[in-house]
Amino acid sequence: MDMEELLEQLLEECRPYTQEGKVATYIPELAKGNREDLGIYVLRSDGRHYQAGDYKKRFTIQSVVKPILLLQALMDNGKDFVRARVGVEATGKPFDAINVTDQTLLSEHINPMVNMGAIAMCTLIKGKNGEERFQRLLELTRALAGDPEIALDEAVYLSEKRTGNKNRALGFLLKTYGMIEDDDVEEVLDCYFKACSISVNSKNLANIGYVLASRGKRPQTEERIFPSAYAHYVNAILATCGMYDGSGDFAVKVGVPAKSGVGGGIMAVVPTRMGIGIFGPALDGKGNSVAGIRLLEQLSQQMYLSIF
Ligand code: GLN
Repeated sequence: MDMEELLEQLLEECRPYTQEGKVATYIPELAKGNREDLGIYVLRSDGRHYQAGDYKKRFTIQSVVKPILLLQALMDNGKDFVRARVGVEATGKPFDAINVTDQTLLSEHINPMVNMGAIAMCTLIKGKNGEERFQRLLELTRALAGDPEIALDEAVYLSEKRTGNKNRALGFLLKTYGMIEDDDVEEVLDCYFKACSISVNSKNLANIGYVLASRGKRPQTEERIFPSAYAHYVNAILATCGMYDGSGDFAVKVGVPAKSGVGGGIMAVVPTRMGIGIFGPALDGKGNSVAGIRLLEQLSQQMYLSIF
C-alpha cells in the first residue's frame, strides 16, 4: 500500500473517534468548530508530501505556537538566558494550571509548553511593545511554515482577550513573583492571545514540524532558520511536556516530540524523517485531539516512527 492510501485508510478508521471528544467552548469563538473534522498532512525529508481528510481547513494555532515562542526567545537571547528564566521540567499538570502553592514561585516551576511559561516567554521576545513582539513572532511562524499568507484570526483573538481571565491571573502571578519585568501585564497577555490566534492549516504545522525535525533547515534547501542546538532544546521539551499531562501516554503510544493546541492542531516532529500536521478539533479532557492522537498512534505503528 502506498503512503497516500495508507493515510486515507487510517483517516477513515480514526474518524469515528471524533465522537469521543468535544470542541473547546471556553473560548467562545472556538465553539464554532466542527467536531467531525479530521485531517493530516505529512511532509517527508525526500520532499514528498501526503495528505488526507480535512487538511486544507484553517484553525487557530493555539498552544502549537508555544514551541515557536520558545524558538523566538532562544533566537533573541540565547539558551542560557532563556533557561535561567523558564524551567524545562514537565509539569504533569493541565495547560492552564495555576502552579503555585504556599512556596515562592520559581522559574524551575514553569515550563514553556504550558500557559504560565508561555506567557513568561512572550516577555523574552525582543520588541518595543506587545504588537512589535507579536509581529516578529508572526514573521517567524511564516518563515518556518514557508507561507507568507499566515495571518491573525481577529475574531478568535478578541474572543480570547474578552474571556481569558485565567491567563490574566497567570500573568499577574508571574509579575507578583518578579518573573516578568514588563510593567504592563495586559500588553504581555495581548501578545500571548494574539500568538494563540494565528490561523494555520495542517500543511503549515507539517512544515513547521519538519524544520524542527531537520534541526533548523527548511525543506529541500540548505537555508537554516535557527541553530541545531535550539532544535535539540525545543524537541526535548516537546517530548516531555508537549502534550501537557498526557505527554507520558503520548510518548508510549506515539513516541515522537509533538505539540497540541485546543484549536484541534497537533504538530509532530519525527527527527530527521518528517513533519506531521494534524487537525481534529474534538478534544479529550486534557485538551488534546482524540482522533488526532489515534491517527498518530496508528501511523507510528505502521511506519515505526517512535524514537524510543
Ligand atoms: N489560548 C489557549 C489558552 O491560553 C491555549 C491553550 C491550549 O491550546 N491548550 O487557554
